[in-house]
Amino acid sequence: MKKILQIQTGGTIAMSAKGEGVELDPEAWSGTLVDRVTELNELAEIHTRPLFFEDSSDLNTNHWKELALCIQSNYEAFDGFVILHGTDTMAYTASALSFALMNLSKPVILTGSQVPLISIRSDARRNLINSVEMATTDLQEVAICFNDHVYRGNRATKLSIGDFDAFGSPNFPLLAEIGLTIEMNTVPKTSTASFEVLPEFDNSLVVLTVFPSLNTDFLMKLDLTKLKAIIVRSFGSGNFPMKGEFSLLPFLTKCEQHDVIVVFVSQADYDSVNLTKYPAGRKALEVGAISGSDMTLEAALTKMMWLLGNYEDSAIIRKLYQSDLAGELSN
Ligand code: ASP
Repeated sequence: MKKILQIQTGGTIAMSAKGEGVELDPEAWSGTLVDRVTELNELAEIHTRPLFFEDSSDLNTNHWKELALCIQSNYEAFDGFVILHGTDTMAYTASALSFALMNLSKPVILTGSQVPLISIRSDARRNLINSVEMATTDLQEVAICFNDHVYRGNRATKLSIGDFDAFGSPNFPLLAEIGLTIEMNTVPKTSTASFEVLPEFDNSLVVLTVFPSLNTDFLMKLDLTKLKAIIVRSFGSGNFPMKGEFSLLPFLTKCEQHDVIVVFVSQADYDSVNLTKYPAGRKALEVGAISGSDMTLEAALTKMMWLLGNYEDSAIIRKLYQSDLAGELSN
């Protein structure tokens, strides 16, 4: 039987009813997990590690580091890993781990639920069983398993607050679909590079959403001396206002002067940014901006945090950022 390490981090899956809502309930959770999903033990030899207990909105780069180091120290002893996690920032954690856990050759599966496991109508039981089963396969990457779908972790994004089908992967096909049978859609890796963990992240960056009438006065007053990067959520294929007082160009020029790396991603979920298509994008390229291609916001952000945390040279960071490091972008 395969050996799986189940790492607990909190989230709705581990909550109990509280008034009209839910809240974390560590005591109830441990009993519930053992009693309600006993058949997990038929799928694998499962060892459980409670790492932290948080609503995923309270997770940060320190938690990502802790998770990466936990997997590193247990890598040889286990065949696969299941991380139980809140859905709100699951795609951020999955993306962050996909960069920190380099050259993975074992499955790391994140899952959670929309309704606590302790509730009778919970989706947790199914997600747990599917995830443990996925962790026994020959998947060699960080994935999210939710509602019978398996997504590449750094391609997934939370799309629904109220539906059991909470995630989507706009620019990359499913890794697996679980129905009467399990349809795997993976290609074995050809790289023989060995597993390595680089768990540092640097949060000296911001995300800027462009919108009609964005007041650029506020942007021009920003202190850029400590800022290392900006992820711009632009319109369409990389567009932004270019005229009069609303023009973003003076701010982009100021960023270039301060060596702040500017990345363009899109507010549209599907397809890729193309900075050569419209005049605005071409101007952005002239002042040194780079394209986030078809990355999700979660991947675009965590990739930059990871590069800033592990590399000094801005030219190297820019080059690596535009390369496919962990299947997060299409060439
Ligand atoms: N707020 C919860 C969390 O992310 C939501 C969930 O787990 O579905 O921890």
